[in-house]
Amino acid sequence: MQFETAAIHVGQDPEPTTGAVAVPIFQTSTFVQPRVGEHLGYEYARTGNPTRTALQECLAALEGTEAAVCFSSGLAAGDAVMRLLSPGDHVVMAGDVYGGTWRQVDKVHRRMGIETTAVDLTDLDTVAGAITPATRLIWAESPSNPLLQIVDLAALSELAHEHGARLVVDNTFATPYLQRPTELGADLVVHSTTKYIGGHSDTVGGAVCTDAATGEELAFLQNAVGAVPGPFDAWLTLRGVKTLGVRMDRHCANAARIATFLDDHPRVTEVLYPGLPAHPGHDLAARQMRDFGGMISVRVEGGIDAARRVAEGTRLFFLAESLGGVESLIEHPGIMTHASVAGTTLEVPDDLLRLSVGIEAVDDLLEDLDRALG
Ligand code: PLP
Repeated sequence: MQFETAAIHVGQDPEPTTGAVAVPIFQTSTFVQPRVGEHLGYEYARTGNPTRTALQECLAALEGTEAAVCFSSGLAAGDAVMRLLSPGDHVVMAGDVYGGTWRQVDKVHRRMGIETTAVDLTDLDTVAGAITPATRLIWAESPSNPLLQIVDLAALSELAHEHGARLVVDNTFATPYLQRPTELGADLVVHSTTKYIGGHSDTVGGAVCTDAATGEELAFLQNAVGAVPGPFDAWLTLRGVKTLGVRMDRHCANAARIATFLDDHPRVTEVLYPGLPAHPGHDLAARQMRDFGGMISVRVEGGIDAARRVAEGTRLFFLAESLGGVESLIEHPGIMTHASVAGTTLEVPDDLLRLSVGIEAVDDLLEDLDRALG
């Protein structure tokens, strides 16, 4: 089954008792059992819920993994991956990641005895130098948030495996439609399904896609820790993912036009978009991705004040955190999504703006940006 077909069909057979074509929202906390110790596949909704099962089966098919395990947010998904480790273990993490991911490993898991070192994952010698005998994971984002760096996932997975570590890829920006990290050797794929997979800015969720044995460990954590998505959240995500392919095609086409426009704009000093031939990761992205995605970051002339003015001056691009929805968003990472890394080596420039390019008519988006840039 090809991607677009799997997005609509896998895990989503018509409901057998009524024939309902859409997977029902099984809004129940518990399931009646015919006999003590015997059940029909479900006992209690933290442990399992059929709407969540449908989403998990679909996401595993899309990432090409044996298992997918869903959580109540992208950060809860990342937390579950970190809980596969033990005190004394070490993680090598990308120097450019979502600020909340760094905050979690730095402020939560470090206290539990797991050390994380942030390095530039585009430089393989630096990565090799950061690996210690205790390193269990290399944690990558490609494209990264917010600097849109591209890292060589095949080379990183080889390096990780040489050292007995596993490669985790946060595939939120690319989605499985544009990039399938396990085909490049990654062991675990993390998603904030809040973004492109859900696609409509109406629900928060996360997922980890991986092999069957690791999937079982994560399902144990899903139940034992309890950060599960509710049935309606799982349903909204499942409804969104059906159109992931067509949405991503449009996100990519719009972003390519906008990146070229911004690249020529006198008020823009730098455009970070892997689809531009001058981007340092362009060739690599062309090899490991189907297309270049819908996220663009730009640096604007005039520093933080100018950046604020542009972010507050757009009308169609809503000033808001998050990304990956049908509507375009603009934000100032230094003050908004990445405020938690201010003062660390992960701090981002204060003239940087991040755009999540939506699927509106691109001419309207270009006009909006042109006016706001002044
Ligand atoms: N990973 C990336 C790349 C993100 O951009 C985000 C959120 O912005 C997360 C993970 C965290 O996901 P959530 O907000 O669903 O917890």
